[in-house]
Amino acid sequence: MKILEDRIRREGTVKHGNVLKVDSFLNHQCDVALFDAMGEEWARLFKDVRIDKILTIEASGIGIACCAARYFHNVPVVFAKKAQSINLDGDQYCTSIYSFTKQKEFPVIVAKKFLVPGEHVLIIDDFLANGNALNGLLSICEEAGVVVEGFGIAVEKGFQGGGDALRARGYRVESLANVLSMDPETGQIEFADSDSS
Ligand code: 5GP
Repeated sequence: MKILEDRIRREGTVKHGNVLKVDSFLNHQCDVALFDAMGEEWARLFKDVRIDKILTIEASGIGIACCAARYFHNVPVVFAKKAQSINLDGDQYCTSIYSFTKQKEFPVIVAKKFLVPGEHVLIIDDFLANGNALNGLLSICEEAGVVVEGFGIAVEKGFQGGGDALRARGYRVESLANVLSMDPETGQIEFADSDSS
C-alpha cells in the first residue's frame, strides 16, 4: 500500500536489532485517516470471505482493528489482553508469547465468551516479525474452535520469516507493507513489490 510505504520511508527510523520505529503514526501517535485507509484496503482484500469478528492484541492493534471493523459491517473487535486484571472474569483462553520488542514472555488472554465456536475471524496486528504474537492468537483461536480466515497486517518484516511460515501452513496473510530489508546505518528500507493502491 503505497501511502503506508511512503509514510514509513518518510517517518520511520531503523533501529539496531531489526526494529522499525513508526511511533509518529502507528505505535504512539495515531494517524486515524491512515488507519481508515488501511481498514478499507483489508476489506477490499478480504471481500470474498465471511468475517464475523476481528481479533487483535493490545495495544497497537486496537486502533487499526477498530478502524477496519467499520469496513467489515461493524463486526465486533476483540483484543487479547497482555495482563491479568480484576476486570477479567469467567473462563479465559490463555497462552504465553515472547515479545520481540520487549524481549520477554507475557501472557495473552481472551475471555471465552468473546470467541464463539464456528465464528469466522480476521486477525489484525500492527507488525509481523517472527510470528510469535500471531501464533499465540492462532492457538487461542484453535482452542476456541473459530475459523481463522486470515491475517491483516500493517507492516510485515518479511526477512524475519513469520509471515511465510504462516503462508506455508495455508493461512492467508495480507500485509500492507512488506519490508524486505532495512539498514540501521543508512536508514534505507526496501519493500517487496507492491501495487499502487
Ligand atoms: P513477532 O511476534 O511477529 O515476532 O512480533 C510482532 C509483535 O512485536 C508486534 O505485535 C509488534 O508489537 C512487535 N514488533 C515486532 N517487530 C517490530 C518492529 O520492528 N517495530 C515495532 N514498532 N514493533 C514490532
